[in-house]
Amino acid sequence: MFNRFKKLCKTIYFSDLKSIPSEQRVDFFNEITSINYNRIKPLGLSLIVINFILLILDFTVFKRIGADPTGYKGALTLHIAGLLFYCIISILLYFFFHRLSLNLKRFVLVSFIVLSLFWCQMISLQTIRIYGQAMPVIICMLTTSYFFVLNQVDRIALFGFSYVSMNLLLMTVEQKTVTQAGSLVTMTFLLFFCLFVSKVNYTVFVDNFINRRIIINNIKEIGKLNAELERKVHERTEALTQANAQIELEKLRVSFFTNLSHEFRTPINVILAAQQLLELKLKNALPHKDYKSIERNLHSIRQYSYRLMRLASNLIDMTRIDAGYYGLTLKNVDIVHVAEEIVLSVASFVESRGIQIIFDTQTEELIMAVDVDKIERAILNLLSNAVKFTPKKGLILVSLFEDEGKVYISVKDNGIGIPSEMTDDIFSRFVQVDQTLTRNREGSGLGLSIVKSIIELHGGTISVRSALYQGSEFIISLPLHVLKEDDTVSAYSFEGQASLDMLNIEFSDIET
Ligand code: ADP
Repeated sequence: MFNRFKKLCKTIYFSDLKSIPSEQRVDFFNEITSINYNRIKPLGLSLIVINFILLILDFTVFKRIGADPTGYKGALTLHIAGLLFYCIISILLYFFFHRLSLNLKRFVLVSFIVLSLFWCQMISLQTIRIYGQAMPVIICMLTTSYFFVLNQVDRIALFGFSYVSMNLLLMTVEQKTVTQAGSLVTMTFLLFFCLFVSKVNYTVFVDNFINRRIIINNIKEIGKLNAELERKVHERTEALTQANAQIELEKLRVSFFTNLSHEFRTPINVILAAQQLLELKLKNALPHKDYKSIERNLHSIRQYSYRLMRLASNLIDMTRIDAGYYGLTLKNVDIVHVAEEIVLSVASFVESRGIQIIFDTQTEELIMAVDVDKIERAILNLLSNAVKFTPKKGLILVSLFEDEGKVYISVKDNGIGIPSEMTDDIFSRFVQVDQTLTRNREGSGLGLSIVKSIIELHGGTISVRSALYQGSEFIISLPLHVLKEDDTVSAYSFEGQASLDMLNIEFSDIET
């Protein structure tokens, strides 16, 4: 029974707190209590001062002009009692209030207001007796409704008590019926007005409390986000610093390789020029038999120089690709003619090794934009690999065809082939198939990776189909597009010293 009553009281008491989450209610009441306490302090002090002044007035003025001696005595008693009451209460509140529990604090504050209201009612009664006016209670009720934050139960209890007790007290005063009715109307009006002011006051406080909580939560959230952001910025800065250090290292590596490769090329060119001169001079100066005996050595000098030259070129290109400096110079050319010319230029060499080479196409002419030098290099590399890994009596078939906006160039041989587990890796750098299969065949494993980069720079792809001991087929696929801004078609022929040098370099790995 008691528990049910307690529950009902709680429900009524908290019914106007629905907008405040239950976990924030303690904070809410703490705030209300501290606000009310802070407002009671100056009020208590001013009531002490007022009582003191009233006492002086009692002795100096009212005593002489007071119409009703009983009223004067009563007022005097009340002023003395008020002065003592507020002095004692103020001292007690000052020393003990902060030690009380929250509920007790609330109880003390409400009791203080009730007592103050009651005191005011008594004063009012006396002033009615003396002057026929009930001003103190009106002022006190208005002040209470305006200054204190009271929830609905406190509010109704306080002002209800004031209303009932004041009306009862008024009945004890002998007045005309009209005056009594007038006082009742004033008190009723005052009750509703105070309830309304107090309700507005309370609602504003609740709204402010909720807004403050939202702001506090937002600030907390912002704080968290800020911390997270700072952490991420820190992480990114560190990653960036590391990446920068990596880039610096990469730059150093690129410049080292480029310098090294250039340093290689210059002496090789000198050796090659000297070899050519020597070959020419010795051929004319020496008797045929003597010349024949050193011809092989001269040939080796040339072959190994070209091989070194190839390695240096591949290393330079590899570093340029890494650094992103490996650009294309596109020209519109007839790709059928380019492929055919290259095949023709190597045909005699290939056939001298007992390998048949065939060029096949169903397209007469196909104009497209490519970097001719780089495409030449790619095709020559595939051809040199095909020759390298195809035994005597083998066949190399180069075919070119167009399909759905793409040009396909296939270099197919029936040589030693590539194990299926290696076909994905051979386009990676430095990858060479097992030494037992490729023994006696030179190379650095860079060629195909550079070919792949060249083709990808053109927007194309390269793939391989191979079966061990049956042969391999490398298929280049290039998007068929032409340069619109320069629609002239460049003439092409694979001849002259530059082309010969390129051929010698690309085929330098093959023993002759
Ligand atoms: P390298 O510069 O040494 O020739 P590549 O990158 O051109 O290197 O080739 C990588 C490896 O792929 C070769 O060492 C060889 O094992 C394999 N390979 C390439 N082309 C063929 C082919 N036509 N037949 C068999 N193996 C090949």
